[in-house]
Amino acid sequence: MVYDVLIIGAGCTGVMTARLLSAKNVKVAVVEASADVATGATAANSAIVHAGYDALPGTLKAKLNVRGNRLMKEIAAALDVELKEVGSHVVGFGDGDLVKLEELKARGEANGVPGLEIIGQDELRRMEPNISPEATHSLWAPSAAITCPYGITIAAAENAATNGVDFYFNFAVSDCSSAGGIHYVTNGTSTVAARYVLNCAGVSSAAVASILGENDFPVTITPRRGEYYILDKSVGSLANSTLFVCPSDRGKGILVSPTVHGNTIVGPNAYPIEDAADKSTTAAGLAEISAGARRIMPSIPLNAAITSFAGVRSTPNQYDFYIRPSEQIPGVIHAVGVESPGFASSPATAEYLVGLLEEAGLKLEDKPDYIPTRRKDGNHRQWNRLSDEEKNEKCRENPAYGKIVCRCETVTEGDLLDMLDSPIPAVTIDMMKRRLRAGMGRCQGGFCSPRVAALIAEKTGVTLDAVTKNGGGSWLVTKRTED
Ligand SMILES: Cc1cc2nc3c(=O)[nH]c(=O)nc-3n(C[C@H](O)[C@H](O)[C@H](O)COP(=O)(O)OP(=O)(O)OC[C@H]3O[C@@H](n4cnc5c(N)ncnc54)[C@H](O)[C@@H]3O)c2cc1C
Repeated sequence: MVYDVLIIGAGCTGVMTARLLSAKNVKVAVVEASADVATGATAANSAIVHAGYDALPGTLKAKLNVRGNRLMKEIAAALDVELKEVGSHVVGFGDGDLVKLEELKARGEANGVPGLEIIGQDELRRMEPNISPEATHSLWAPSAAITCPYGITIAAAENAATNGVDFYFNFAVSDCSSAGGIHYVTNGTSTVAARYVLNCAGVSSAAVASILGENDFPVTITPRRGEYYILDKSVGSLANSTLFVCPSDRGKGILVSPTVHGNTIVGPNAYPIEDAADKSTTAAGLAEISAGARRIMPSIPLNAAITSFAGVRSTPNQYDFYIRPSEQIPGVIHAVGVESPGFASSPATAEYLVGLLEEAGLKLEDKPDYIPTRRKDGNHRQWNRLSDEEKNEKCRENPAYGKIVCRCETVTEGDLLDMLDSPIPAVTIDMMKRRLRAGMGRCQGGFCSPRVAALIAEKTGVTLDAVTKNGGGSWLVTKRTED
């Protein structure tokens, strides 16, 4: 079959676009190198739905960020994903920073960000009792929010799959040929054909542009790693909103923020790396983010860290996002250099990409039978977000909801079974983890992982040694030990 649109990359950019297209009368495929949706930068970032004061006025980045901020809230509501409008402060230390905060405020106002305000020390301390006594001012942005970037991307992917989008996982595009207005995209063993191709391949997007046949592509990407700590929920709410410092040429700096799941996130730093796949954390990097966090909040209990992780930015050799049709290959459109605020922008980036497809000649009409939820029978809400009555009702219907598998995050066997039966079935340990948080708590999967693996094996009819952590060769067990 020939698809109307083929999207390369199932991060937030590709998936939000697939979701929008799934409401139209076109056939869409998404090919993704890894085993799941949202495993690239979308899986490992600060999770901030930025307000939109950072980007320079008039840039695509500024426009898409401000609109994306609004749309993200609508999508979270429509797909029943947690999103908290906690607001953000850019914290200033002294009069030098006050000048920078005024500049950011003016920039934000030019971008159309609502409600920006410079606030003084007393008000800042009232809003954020744990803030450093040396913090003198802040730029308060009430429209900033937090959500789960991979959670909302998975929800959008399920919504897209429910409406007929085909996802091909473990499909790393390695070559492409074009004939008669059709592009044949291959991973070496299988080929998917489409009339239009969107390159949404994140840190690999410039490389994918070459694979698609671009010569002398104008954008190059430098992978830039950012490291984080996650603090245990037990320390309670340390920050009420996202606390940034003044941005520098190395980015937005180290932040302290609540997460939508009740933890505190600390980070990131920013260092160029050679290997974009290298998501390791380093002692020096973690020491740097610890120092940055203590500057904002001297009393922060960093000994409550339950894990560390790193994400990799796709930093382009130009300021703005490069989102435009190919000048050399008709029917190919690139979304390259989508670094921060790429997540916050993604719902608006999707609209923009759909507009470019229409300009390129794709005819779109509304699909009369479009289903607005993640699943045909409605949205999925997991156990720990239900009321007591709903929990009782669920247990009466299916006792599997009474069996807790992940104690740290209260995930039930019923939740896990639901995920095996979802529009994109969760068949690896990490797929379950990203969807339900089984393994994200204090014990980091020490107790629940074997049970999750056993359940996946039993219900998908494979042996335990076929279950992987995240696809490929990431098996958990290889063979029985000798008796
Ligand atoms: C440390 C850090 C902090 C950040 N903080 C924020 C924040 O708080 N707020 C915000 O708005 N933004 C933030 N960002 C930016 C944001 O995460 C990204 O802009 C956004 O996730 C980009 O999404 P994407 O879909 O374009 O790319 P990705 O999420 O990277 O997705 C690209 C996908 O393409 C796939 N792919 C690559 N090559 C191929 C191939 N050959 N074939 C098939 N598939 C392929 C990859 O496997 C990947 O899944 C941050 C980024 C980082 C790294």
